[in-house]
Amino acid sequence: MILFFENRYVAALRVRKQESGFDVRWMLVHFRREMAFADVFAEMMENPTPRMRRLEQLLENRSAAEFEQQAGQAQLITRRNFGKTMRLFAPLYVSNECVNNCQYCGFSRDSGILRTTLTVEQVVTEAKFLHDQGFRNILLVAGEHPKFVSEGYLQKCLDALKSWVPTLALEVGPMEHPQYQEMVHHGAEGLVVYQETYHRETYQTLHTAGPKKHFDWRLNCPERAYAAGFRRIGVGALFGLANWRFEAMALCAHLDYLYKNCWKAQFTVAFPRMRPYAGNYQYQPDPERTLPDRALVQLITAFRILFPQIGIVLSTREPSAFRDAVAPLGITHMSAGARTEPGGYTGAGSDDLHLTVRGRRVELETKTAGQKATEQFQIHDQRSMQEIAAMLRRQGIDPIWKDWDPALLAAPEESLFFVNQS
Ligand code: SF4
Repeated sequence: MILFFENRYVAALRVRKQESGFDVRWMLVHFRREMAFADVFAEMMENPTPRMRRLEQLLENRSAAEFEQQAGQAQLITRRNFGKTMRLFAPLYVSNECVNNCQYCGFSRDSGILRTTLTVEQVVTEAKFLHDQGFRNILLVAGEHPKFVSEGYLQKCLDALKSWVPTLALEVGPMEHPQYQEMVHHGAEGLVVYQETYHRETYQTLHTAGPKKHFDWRLNCPERAYAAGFRRIGVGALFGLANWRFEAMALCAHLDYLYKNCWKAQFTVAFPRMRPYAGNYQYQPDPERTLPDRALVQLITAFRILFPQIGIVLSTREPSAFRDAVAPLGITHMSAGARTEPGGYTGAGSDDLHLTVRGRRVELETKTAGQKATEQFQIHDQRSMQEIAAMLRRQGIDPIWKDWDPALLAAPEESLFFVNQS
């Protein structure tokens, strides 16, 4: 009976489409709220939402004047929504062990790199270093390895940091909903999970081993994180793996979906570009897939116009001159003084370096002084946090170290009202 009415409804809409140009499939996609993003992704790419169609226009080749006008609009929207501020954060790599083989990453299972997993005490040492520098927003990053980054490890790290680091986020292997709930319970308030590439075939080619092979499992990760209570969720694609326009449209589709279905969370988006990495320090961007500087600026400004309140992240993968130039145009979050290896800030864990072969630890035959764990990729902007903060101030942008405190959730409503009025 339900099916009968559904069909009648669709038939009626079809008639309406013929009369008015109304898109039935688009409506069906967007009213199936109970479906996960992986279920509707392909249809959304075939039948773009109004916002995706607008993105297409904003990414068209633009004259210099149009380009400048788009940048000006993005800058204005950013100021209106975020003021002249920039949230600074630092990644803290806790482990470079991984069971996955991702063909663009130095931590891949089959890479013969120097590996280590920091002890909880060493994680605290690294975090203290960052805290002394001024950071109050730390992103804990780990490869995916159930043996080394084992059950309970991340929870212990969070427990050791949460009383003095107000903003803790995770960039780790995707988890099930109950595990995410546990992370939130232990003090993680943000989760970053980039799809790497939204192009399904390319994804299959690049992920040859490990749980990361499962495209849909990763695609639905932000929804699982939202359901588990994460307050901030970061999505993105690694640009350079597939056609950048396709990735941009897919990201827009993903955000469109998340805005409608996970509307209580704050979202951030990032457009990281491939960098040389362990095992491929000679990496040269594929001209067919590369995201040129001008297109990246267009992307940043387009997403700012389409999603006025979204956080846009720009990391130290980008060269300093580029970061300085785009800082006022839509960016709200920047990493600074970043290292991409465990122990990168203090040298912690360098006494435990080893190789990992087929999941087993293999001791080094020789150890040399000053040896460090291998980095995930080469950063481009090598400036210190102080230099980045000074650059922002020169541009009239206030560096923000802390924009959240868990106590806010516990505060009575009247006192928040009082704060807002003062
Ligand atoms: S991208 Fe992540 S999952 Fe893939 S090899 Fe690197 S650390 Fe592991």
